[in-house]
Formats: sequence, C-alpha cells, structure tokens
Amino acid sequence: MERIYVTVRARPLSPEESKCSPWKISGSSIHLTNQPSKFEFVSDRVFGDDCRTIDVYEARTKEIVASAVRGFNGTVFAYGQTNSGKTYTMRGSNSEPGIIPLADMDREFLLRMSYMEIYNEEINDLLVPEHRKLQIHESLERGIYVAGLREEIVTCAEQVLDLMEFGESHRHIGETNMNLHSSRSHTIFRMIIESKERVEEEGTIDSCDAVRVSVLNLVDLAGSERAAKTGAEGVRLKEGSHINKSLMTLGTVIKKLSEGAESQGGHVPYRDSKLTRILQPALGGNANTSIICNITLAQVHADETKSSLQFASRAL
Ligand code: ADP
Ligand code: MG
Repeated sequence: MERIYVTVRARPLSPEESKCSPWKISGSSIHLTNQPSKFEFVSDRVFGDDCRTIDVYEARTKEIVASAVRGFNGTVFAYGQTNSGKTYTMRGSNSEPGIIPLADMDREFLLRMSYMEIYNEEINDLLVPEHRKLQIHESLERGIYVAGLREEIVTCAEQVLDLMEFGESHRHIGETNMNLHSSRSHTIFRMIIESKERVEEEGTIDSCDAVRVSVLNLVDLAGSERAAKTGAEGVRLKEGSHINKSLMTLGTVIKKLSEGAESQGGHVPYRDSKLTRILQPALGGNANTSIICNITLAQVHADETKSSLQFASRAL
C-alpha cells in the first residue's frame, strides 16, 4: 500500500465569523498561534481558504483516479465537522465542480456507479430509494459486496451528475432537514471500472482479453463533531454514537494501515463498522487512499478544527 496522503482544506470564513483567526498556515504546516501549548500539524498539503477544488483534486486525487483506471482500487475521504466544506469539496456547487464530477474518466472503460449512504449503521441505496437496510456479503468471486446495491452503467459525464442529483433528492430524510441528515450519514459514491489489460510492446499497444475490475470510492463522511458537544439525546444520541463508532473505527483502521499492520499480518478491525467493512477492498492491499481534512479557520471552531487535524494525524 502507498502511504495515506493527507490534505487539509480550509473553507472561506462566513460573514458571521470573525476574520481574526487563531490559525496560521505556512507551507504544508498549520498551527495555532494563541495557545501556550503549541499545536502544529504538518500534512502533505495545506490549502488555504482561497484555494480551488481543482487544486485539491490535482494534489493527489487525480493520481488515485488514474491508478483506478489502471486497475488499482482507491478511496478518497472528506473528513471534518459539519459545515466545514466536505460536501462542497466532494460534490461541488454551482460555482465550481467537486471531486466527484472532476473524477470523470476516459470512456474506453466500462464504468458503473453506485451511490449509497450509511445511516445509523444501515446501508441505503441512494439510486433505488426502496432498497433500504442492505446487507454486506462476501463471496469468492465477488469479494466483499453490498447485496442488492444498484450499479448503473454510465456513459457520459452528464449521467454521473444526474445520478448524483437523483441520489441526493431521494435520501431518507423524512421531515428533518437535509443538512441535519447529511451531517449524520456517510455517503459513498463508487465507480466500478472494468478495463482490458493492455500490453505495451515496442511502442504499440495491444489489447488482450483479461479484464480488470477496480473500484474507486469517493466518501463524504458524517460530521465529526462529538455527540457530547451537541448535547444529543435519544435518537440523536444513537446517531451520534453510531457516527462516533464508525469514525473511530475508521481512525483505528487508518492508523493500523499507516503503521503497516496489514503487511505484517497484524489485525486491522475492518469488521467493527459497516463503513470500514464496505471500504476494506479499497483501503488495504494495493489500494491508494487519501484523506481530505476539511476545516474552518474560525476562532469559534478552533477545538473542532484541532480534533479534525488530530484525526488526520493518525494517517501519517
Ligand atoms: P459539510 O458538508 O462539511 O457539512 P458544506 O460542504 O455543506 O459542509 O459547506 C458548508 C457551507 O460552506 C456551504 O454553504 C458551502 O457552500 C460553503 N463552502 C464550503 N466550502 C467552500 C469553499 N471552498 N468555497 C466557498 N464556499 C464553501
Ligand atoms: Mg455535507
């Protein structure tokens, strides 16, 4: 496995947030300037609040997409508290495309996509709203898979956008507001790429019949804020504990992988959450992984930002 690549991306401050930030970015490091105990985080790249998504995409995701086309699984996560810019980074907005539309691929491959959410440890198919509470299975031929999950063949970029929109509009949100829901569920946008093995010989490219299948997961994680802080009770508390559990498991899995536990035959607790179980084939082994840690530089969120950076540090 390649080392996990960690990018930090700060979103612009909103008009209500004070422009005087306790954070200072220099190069690939970010640190708090107003604390007696120094806090500094050094990642692979830090993007300030004036960056564009395309720059974030080019920092590493682009390579992961290119590797996926060559047959290597990959996963890109957006991690961070609610309102830190995860969805903006992954899906984009009217003003700029996100990573999902940027990860558009060459059409010489057979491309299928699926779109699911994990909400309270239940897997729902966002492309088929009736497909709820899907189960994870494992077989010799297919490896680990979500039974019954729709895989739609896509042939053009517009179709990817349409499916993304469709999935969004059919999320299980009930009467609660969309933002609340999306902050409590993980979504996995998955591309399944089938490509013919290509053999390059003396400048000519021959196709042979072997078909390779690889998977690329683009993951918009649930908000990382702690349940304690939001004063959650009842259903909210249950959601909170599921979120915490899966993010905690993800943190542990990432830490184990970055320590090389898998290649040394050590235990990696993929099975401790649905999220890590589903992503297992695209996390360990030969897979490429990257975490985009979305933060805000506002003073009021300094503690949350610090804990997001601490999470990201487990990957390094
Ligand atoms: P999250 O998914 O982490 O909860 P969002 O992606 O919904 O956060 O972002 C919160 C708000 O901030 C949205 O209104 C979004 O449009 C805005 N926003 C986030 N990142 C950026 C950015 N890089 N540039 C401009 N606006 C942004
Ligand atoms: Mg979001």
